[in-house]
Amino acid sequence: PANTICSNGSDEILGLLAQTYLAPGDEAIFTEHAFMVYKIYIQSAGAKPVAVKETDERADVDAILAAVTPATKIVFLANPNNPTGTYLPARAMKRLRAKLPKGVMLVVDAAYAEFVTAKDYEPGIKLVDAARRSGDDNVIMTRTFSKGGGLGGLRLGWAYASESVTDLFNRIRMPF
Ligand SMILES: *Cc1c(COP(=O)(O)O)cnc(C)c1O
Repeated sequence: PANTICSNGSDEILGLLAQTYLAPGDEAIFTEHAFMVYKIYIQSAGAKPVAVKETDERADVDAILAAVTPATKIVFLANPNNPTGTYLPARAMKRLRAKLPKGVMLVVDAAYAEFVTAKDYEPGIKLVDAARRSGDDNVIMTRTFSKGGGLGGLRLGWAYASESVTDLFNRIRMPF
């Protein structure tokens, strides 16, 4: 439970991430056909949105890594992505996390995890666990009941992350 947080849709967590980790002068990366809210939240935190080219409408790990600068604080990645419907296999996500600087938060937005049947897919739980094991707090997986559960109006999202991350959210989010 200490590693899990519930929210007003996973959207709330995406907004909190931008508010918490981004300030003017910072950069955050997403892919060219990414879920549109990332850019909105990055801009409302006063940071610079950096859109990276995809390859065949699929996130390109090398292109993401090439876009990293010392100002990069977050990589937002929907896996699978909305609206392209493409996904990155577990090994590609692992490589992305391994090659990103430790200080960059990798946000794995797994809003559509419930729809994936591919054996090489991993929603992000193992990535968070690997980070926790090495004492890092630089991966968060966000989930929602809006898509797989068809419960968009309920506004129920959740996330799994290191305790330092859930603790931070519990301290800054709206109390009710
Ligand atoms: C729908 C969606 C969300 C947000 O859903 P909530 O209703 O806020 O939980 C987040 N990411 C992606 C990729 C989505 O398609």
